[in-house]
Amino acid sequence: MGKHEVAQAKLVCRELKKSIPETRVELDYENALELMVATVLSAQCTDVKVNEVSKALFEKYRRPEDYAGVEAEELEEDIRPTGFYRQKTKNIQAAMQMIITDHNGQVPDSMDALTRLPGIGRKSANVILGNIHGVPGIVVDTHVGRVSHRLGLTKEKDPVKIEMALGTLLPEDQWTAFGQRLVLHGRYVCKARKPLCDECALMPHCPHFAEQAKG
Ligand code: SF4
Repeated sequence: MGKHEVAQAKLVCRELKKSIPETRVELDYENALELMVATVLSAQCTDVKVNEVSKALFEKYRRPEDYAGVEAEELEEDIRPTGFYRQKTKNIQAAMQMIITDHNGQVPDSMDALTRLPGIGRKSANVILGNIHGVPGIVVDTHVGRVSHRLGLTKEKDPVKIEMALGTLLPEDQWTAFGQRLVLHGRYVCKARKPLCDECALMPHCPHFAEQAKG
């Protein structure tokens, strides 16, 4: 971690707070179990599509036993529009079984236990920890990686290393909101193909923009 990155992270954090006052995940959920299922469904799928599917799903399945006890084919049909539905069904049913057997029917509240559940990686675990359990964590998805590189916050490529690098730049109590703001900034402004630099408050502080402007 260099002084420059720390100063840049503070500045990015301050500007993003202004442009994105409210942080949120865009997955709809009302409890830990629903958020966990939604994160599994969101692999290779948009949040909008997950929300379309989860509306009826969460009406039908309310407890871990509901997911674990149904025929795989039925759950597959219920989540089919989110893609990779066979693998997702396997993961959800195996995770629910572990939740019932090892965690008293509750979604666990540690990184270690969460990432042992099938279908839950660090990214999903951080979403659950930050939003349900109030445990600070930086969600690193493709948006966060891209935006962090463009803004000169880190050169790391591996998501876990990006997460660690960003974590050294800001105090823990800012991690969750900062990560969520980076996701939203990447999704709506600093887009992969055509970043909306003209609309971006970070433009004067953005090394990527400066590089592009040089031609
Ligand atoms: S100025 Fe452009 S490249 Fe830089 S953060 Fe903003 S949108 Fe992204």
